[in-house]
Amino acid sequence: MASVGFTYTGLPARVVFGTGTRATVRAEVERLAMSRALVLTTAPQIDHGREVAALLGERAVGVFSGAVMHTPVDVTHAALDALRQLGADGVVAIGGGSTIGLGKAIAVRTGVPQLAIPTTYAGSEMTPILGETEAGQKTTRRSLDILPETVIYDVDLTLGLPVALSSTSGINAIAHAVEALYAQDANPIISVFAEQGIAALARALPAIAAAPNDREARRDALYGAWLCGMCLGSVGMALHHKLCHVLGGTFDLPHAETHTVVLPHAVAYNAPAAPEAMARIARALGAGDAATGLYELAGAVGANRALGALGMPAEGLDRAADLATGHPYWNPRPLERTAIRELLERAFTGAPPR
Ligand code: NAD
Repeated sequence: MASVGFTYTGLPARVVFGTGTRATVRAEVERLAMSRALVLTTAPQIDHGREVAALLGERAVGVFSGAVMHTPVDVTHAALDALRQLGADGVVAIGGGSTIGLGKAIAVRTGVPQLAIPTTYAGSEMTPILGETEAGQKTTRRSLDILPETVIYDVDLTLGLPVALSSTSGINAIAHAVEALYAQDANPIISVFAEQGIAALARALPAIAAAPNDREARRDALYGAWLCGMCLGSVGMALHHKLCHVLGGTFDLPHAETHTVVLPHAVAYNAPAAPEAMARIARALGAGDAATGLYELAGAVGANRALGALGMPAEGLDRAADLATGHPYWNPRPLERTAIRELLERAFTGAPPR
């Protein structure tokens, strides 16, 4: 417990968690006074979207399956057209962070209520944060209007999440909790969620890699993802999230995979400045050292550990280091360009963190 005072702000979301919980979607939509819901999803998850629409019966007016990565504004406008044409009065987003991002983009522009049914571990459903892209530029904003009113976590929907995406999405979630433990506005409440979230995912991910239909492991992972999402939504992030934002935005690297590669290196960089957080991360991982434990977890679940293999160009590393250190932001260890360039080099080749 912190020896000085602290501030904690709770986020007002209703959560239904369990197995088979998507069956409650109609009752939950009624609770939000939605009578004409537009269901949102991606093209590959159209069957998930149709199933939810069927569960909603006459409370659904259509399925928009155009959600894509990075929430491009032109896709949002197409979904808004569908919302107006169908006379929808709310959105139900079923999918990962991309689909939930589209729901947020619609809600913040129209004020309609949103219900999110996450099928990955990214955690967007628990945050009042929206990242959008227009003409290659990514902008991020934060507002309570962005936070979904209701979230239904259904373990069954994650059984089909491919192992590779389960592993990287799960480590993406762990990254939120890791940075929450050394956040500028860290507080003991969120730190409890963070440690529990890391422990649940660290236990679950190797079990899922070995047996993707292991319901207990899937339950642990989804529960951990919820806790980690609350960390991201509640306190500020630091170097790790900045690096991933730069790498994803400038070099178009995939979101969860990039987080997986960078996390052990960002943690090693911050370790000398955040010993208490490192001890909690290591304890949650059941490892002797936080950075090594994260690197080994990625290896144990078969995830790629090199930026080079994700399509990062070697000649982009200098630019990435410049962008990650160009504008000041809070980090437990001051931003040192030379050390961050070295960190990126190790992440590029897949070397262990140092
Ligand atoms: P994603 O939503 O892009 O999903 C990746 C692919 O997997 C999609 O094709 C999706 O349809 C498919 N998929 C998802 N769940 C599946 C399942 N259960 N079975 C089969 N296929 C499934 O990936 P993501 O990692 O969840 O989200 C990444 C995006 O979310 C990024 O744009 C990121 O910036 C954003 N994000 C935002 C926040 C926030 O707080 N605003 C937080 C985390 C992530």
